[in-house]
Amino acid sequence: MKVKILGSGGSKGIPQAGNFWGEANPSNNKNRRTRCSILVEINSKNFLIDTGLDFRNQMNLHNISKVDALLYTHGHSDHIDGISDVLEFGLDGGGEIKTYLTKETHGIITHRFSDLFDSIKNFRTYHFVNFNLIEGGKVDFSGKEVELLKVKHGNLNPLAFRCENFAYVPDFNEIPEETLKRLEGLDVLLINANEGFHKASPTTTHRDFYQIMELNECLKAKKVILNHLSNYVDHERDEAKLPEGFVLAYDGMEFEI
Ligand SMILES: [Zn+2]
Ligand SMILES: [Zn+2]
Repeated sequence: MKVKILGSGGSKGIPQAGNFWGEANPSNNKNRRTRCSILVEINSKNFLIDTGLDFRNQMNLHNISKVDALLYTHGHSDHIDGISDVLEFGLDGGGEIKTYLTKETHGIITHRFSDLFDSIKNFRTYHFVNFNLIEGGKVDFSGKEVELLKVKHGNLNPLAFRCENFAYVPDFNEIPEETLKRLEGLDVLLINANEGFHKASPTTTHRDFYQIMELNECLKAKKVILNHLSNYVDHERDEAKLPEGFVLAYDGMEFEI
């Protein structure tokens, strides 16, 4: 299994519109972050997680012309806004994209992009993005079992992804007990840590680095990759402060499991 981080950024990307870098040093390319998206390649098939506004550029930059399955973790803009390009991509990329999402996310997508979906009865949308509503559990993908696990993110209930000893936990501020059990003892945990070393306020729907370190005292993943990084995070400065086994994600990062 090969994992590629297409986008490692928080909801606004870095730099955010207006060339605003926050605490991230503009001279380090690892601080240039597009909206969160992950590609998992299993037995030469591509499982894509989320399509934010940067979807089109990510596909072109990495020369990805085929997606075999797609997971929408949740319905926030930074994870779904590229959907109109997904429809075009499906058209030229060859056939149907099996798309997993919860009823909650499906409701948000069809509401937000009603112009795309209103015309489906006489047009192509559902043909190329084949929606499979799922609230968690196991699906088969390219000869492996992929597990989708619920987490809490404010008033939304995103799906995390697990395959063998790798898991990806998207935006969250709480992990239910039954999901925690399924995340124990991983080789690699890729996890949202939006707030960096800024302590997350009690009202935020994201977590900070301290909270992820504490979480991994229970989960005991061998390697933790911190992802969905906001402009509070400077790659070089902050990675140097992390304990052994923790690293920061960056756009284009690749690893095999
Ligand atoms: Zn997000
Ligand atoms: Zn979110």
